[in-house]
Amino acid sequence: MHPLRRVRIQPDMDFEKRLEWFRNECAAAGLPCTHQREVLYRALVEAKDHPSPEMLYERVKRKIPSISLGTVYRNIKIFLDHGLIGEVSLHHGSLRLEANNEPHHHLVCRHCRKMFDLPAAGVHAIRLRRALPEGFQVERFVVEAHGLCQECAAPKKRRSN
Ligand SMILES: [Zn+2]
Ligand SMILES: [Zn+2]
Repeated sequence: MHPLRRVRIQPDMDFEKRLEWFRNECAAAGLPCTHQREVLYRALVEAKDHPSPEMLYERVKRKIPSISLGTVYRNIKIFLDHGLIGEVSLHHGSLRLEANNEPHHHLVCRHCRKMFDLPAAGVHAIRLRRALPEGFQVERFVVEAHGLCQECAAPKKRRSN
């Protein structure tokens, strides 16, 4: 558990409250809460699709045309290092980000690769039946439910032509 996660971020928390949390966490970590960082954080709070850094860059560029991809990468790394944002499992080929840094699970669409949040409370607690080999220390379990999202599961008539 990250030491900075003192306040619980609720998925339905309004943006001003989240921004206040973000500013407090930045201050506690000694990070200047710059306009760039706030814009980046807002873009992530507003994103419902667990965007990649590149997707986030495209969105932030509309607000700050002079921002570079390198700056976005750098700030994302800082946010992640300080537990300000969360990263979704890495094995989907690219880093996917989200502002929801509370433990939760995901529904992954195998067709469009969109990810949706599944609250931790929606899944039974997972326990191991026996100790793991190699002295591996489990910190958390993340469940991924794979399937088709509503859009992709819909009859194909609208998408074929
Ligand atoms: Zn889909
Ligand atoms: Zn999520």
